[in-house]
Amino acid sequence: MTAHTTTDVLIIGTGFSGLGMAIQLQRSGRDDFVIVEKADAIGGTWRDNTYPGIACDIPSLMYSFSYEQNPHWTRAYSSGREIWDYLEDVTDKYGLRDRIRFGVELSSARWDADEGVWHATAANGDTYTARILVSGIGALHIPRIPELRGLEDFKQNRPAFHTAQWDHSVDLTGKRVAVIGTGASAIQVIPQIADQVGELRVFQRTAPWVMPRPDHPISPKMRDVFERMPGIQRAYRYAWYWFLESRAIGFNGHPRVQKVGERFVQKYMARKVADPDLRKKLTPDYRMGCKRVLLASDYFPVYERDNVHLVTRGVERLTAKGVVDADGVEHEVDAVIFGTGFHVVDSFQYLDVTGADGQDLAKEFDEHGVETYLGINVAGFPNLFFLLGPNTGLGHNSVVFMIEQQAKYVVRMLDEMDRRRVRTVDVSKPAQDSFQRRIQDKLHNGIWSTGGCTSWYLDAKGVNRTIWPGFTFSYWWETLRVDTEAYEWGRTAPGRGRANAGSDHEPQPAAT
Ligand SMILES: Cc1cc2nc3c(=O)[nH]c(=O)nc-3n(C[C@H](O)[C@H](O)[C@H](O)COP(=O)(O)OP(=O)(O)OC[C@H]3O[C@@H](n4cnc5c(N)ncnc54)[C@H](O)[C@@H]3O)c2cc1C
Repeated sequence: MTAHTTTDVLIIGTGFSGLGMAIQLQRSGRDDFVIVEKADAIGGTWRDNTYPGIACDIPSLMYSFSYEQNPHWTRAYSSGREIWDYLEDVTDKYGLRDRIRFGVELSSARWDADEGVWHATAANGDTYTARILVSGIGALHIPRIPELRGLEDFKQNRPAFHTAQWDHSVDLTGKRVAVIGTGASAIQVIPQIADQVGELRVFQRTAPWVMPRPDHPISPKMRDVFERMPGIQRAYRYAWYWFLESRAIGFNGHPRVQKVGERFVQKYMARKVADPDLRKKLTPDYRMGCKRVLLASDYFPVYERDNVHLVTRGVERLTAKGVVDADGVEHEVDAVIFGTGFHVVDSFQYLDVTGADGQDLAKEFDEHGVETYLGINVAGFPNLFFLLGPNTGLGHNSVVFMIEQQAKYVVRMLDEMDRRRVRTVDVSKPAQDSFQRRIQDKLHNGIWSTGGCTSWYLDAKGVNRTIWPGFTFSYWWETLRVDTEAYEWGRTAPGRGRANAGSDHEPQPAAT
């Protein structure tokens, strides 16, 4: 039997975004919200990714909510399990579990301009009516497996899975294993399984820039200090924040800073990889920062092992027995692990959202580009808010900081709506266009465009729809206040959308 729920705010997802949003609503005294989660547990990224070696590459002191510091982290860069536990604790502390509908995958949402509400439908047939829809669906949660010829033949005989869908029933001990890809997850997995497997073949398309990870255990004494004196932990957090923030200088088009980083990695690599040919293969042919800079201290040394082989010829296809490289050489393996990333820019294709004029969000993004205002609002889609939306991802600091600013911004918007006594709000198309021009100008001059690479930061047309181009404190500043001029306040009448945004704005008196 299907159920119908009416709520003021409907939140999708229970990762850092969805949980962070719920907490901010609670803190502002708003209690009328429901969270839907397609899985049967909270946690998002940190629930789904259970591969060997999973850990954050931003120090945990920063990769956590500022208002919910955890004195119990056991390492500077926590394991995935510890981050998941942290999110579980936060969920319980704020009593959010009762608000979550598990196993509910929202499949569509349609704006009803007459009623000024969203009507949403889940895959199980449940329906929801909500004034406000907040997307916390994440940017890296739909695994991308390349459409390789022969994949099905291989899978009929031997296991093949993505790092985000690690098959723990497969025993890799003594097996011949292929890892396809050398991105952020792969470089964590490779050193962890090298010891266990018989032979490991790493198929690299593009070499990543990898820096050593300054990880270390946090001693029980230090944890005790953090627990008793939270101010000290906060001081550490500030120090990390400003250190990480300084990395944005290089990413934003200061090549000299990049060169220092590149030289550092080259020297580091020379110490860890003796064979100059191998070193050459492991050296990226693009500027540092163009793709995400990775952190791992055990990655380069793994290639000194006799059972680990780097293949740089690219993957042509799979067969029932193994992987065929671009030279036609077949590498027989017992298992294939895909470290091939996620659907990022196209992740919105998986949710069917219809706006004020009946326009389809995925189609709009496809035709006009993934354009938003502050990465949060989209013109023509009233009362819809994205967390960790387009162009708010980071290469240099913790995205939890961005998520926090966005959740607070949504609350500021709700406050402003209350103050004006209006039920709906829509960002104006001119405000959105001007925001886009500003950030795309910056992105155009940044390392992501000038660094000589292609990456998952870019859409099919080569436009960066993923990264926030600048310091996170400038994003904090931009979201600190609602620019009321950028929005149209009031019930959204039918017939208003991208083309004629602002034409029939229903003015409302401010409640002063
Ligand atoms: C392996 C890995 C390591 C990472 N490490 C770092 C790091 O070190 N530092 C960093 O800053 N970032 C890192 N990231 C990025 C990470 O995704 C973000 O930091 C953060 O966890 C995103 O949180 P989120 O809540 O926005 O999304 P997610 O954690 O992806 O959560 C989204 C949730 O929404 C649910 N959902 C999605 N669609 C629907 C639907 N239609 N209906 C119902 N529920 C739905 C999902 O099931 C999921 O629970 C990493 C990502 C990965 C994959």
